[in-house]
Amino acid sequence: MSKFHEYKKFIQEGDRVLVYMNRDSIVPIIVNQDECLKIKFGEYPHTKMIGLEYGSQIESSKGKGYVYLLHPTPELWTIAVPHRTQILYTPDISFISLKLNLRPGSVVIESGTGSGAFSHAIARTISNSGFLHTFEYHKHRADFAIKELEAHNLKDIVNVVHRDVCKDGFGLEGVADADLPAPWEAIPSASKAFKKSIAGRICTFSPCIEQVQRTADALNMNNFFDIETIECLARDYTSLNQTMPDIQTIINGDKVKFKFVKGKKRMLLQDGEDNAHSSILVSSPSLQTKGHTSYLTFATYYNP
Ligand code: SAM
Repeated sequence: MSKFHEYKKFIQEGDRVLVYMNRDSIVPIIVNQDECLKIKFGEYPHTKMIGLEYGSQIESSKGKGYVYLLHPTPELWTIAVPHRTQILYTPDISFISLKLNLRPGSVVIESGTGSGAFSHAIARTISNSGFLHTFEYHKHRADFAIKELEAHNLKDIVNVVHRDVCKDGFGLEGVADADLPAPWEAIPSASKAFKKSIAGRICTFSPCIEQVQRTADALNMNNFFDIETIECLARDYTSLNQTMPDIQTIINGDKVKFKFVKGKKRMLLQDGEDNAHSSILVSSPSLQTKGHTSYLTFATYYNP
């Protein structure tokens, strides 16, 4: 069976395959020889996938169309995962993992599990002797996550607990190196979960700055230190060919003149010659800045 934290070469019955159509459309399937994937890009009997290498392109058995059969990774899973909740995406996931010092062997507590997007990424980072305790108070979501993580061979690394961590706490003492999103009510219980004599890290998510203030107060009251709040914002850059005036034209303050050579617009140099090299590749940022899953507040806890 395919794993998220290890790579296998050939597709077999029962494997998870991420069927890639384009960057925004990835369909997750579990290979079953009796099934056929029917999508707008054609029809793909699973039997034709068995034995192929992960990464192969296959053509539709009916009409035109092709797709790629990709190996599951936590990054692709954030695009393919059936959303049961809002999820965390790779830019936040990688930043949080870095700031929490997650590494092979870390013991982590996450609340809540939601659609399990972050759980898959944590599981891969900590695999080889680490463990994730993830809590979810919505019964259906918790059951769904248990089945999904089992199908992905992650049950030795992840335990999903159906529990309200604000009302009932984590019920864990002295286990964690790191701990994830928790509203201020969960912070006293979170502090008990940290191992003694080892500095542990916490990250909480808050959608607005008023909640950040309440969280920071709770962290202060419960002996956390090194508190910092960060917002991750993503901005797309587009590359394009831009026509640039020659330096002498700029120095003189002259109007830039153009002429057409073989249908292409070229700028004229001061001496009247056309400037074949007037076009250069530039990068420009989009006006819109996307992102803001939440404000991320990090802190450290130490229990001597
Ligand atoms: N980390 C998830 C992911 O990447 O897919 C997304 C988490 S989702 C935004 C928040 C989840 O926290 C919801 O599924 C919600 O049911 C759960 N939750 C909220 N309060 C909780 C609590 N007190 N105890 C346990 N789970 C809670």
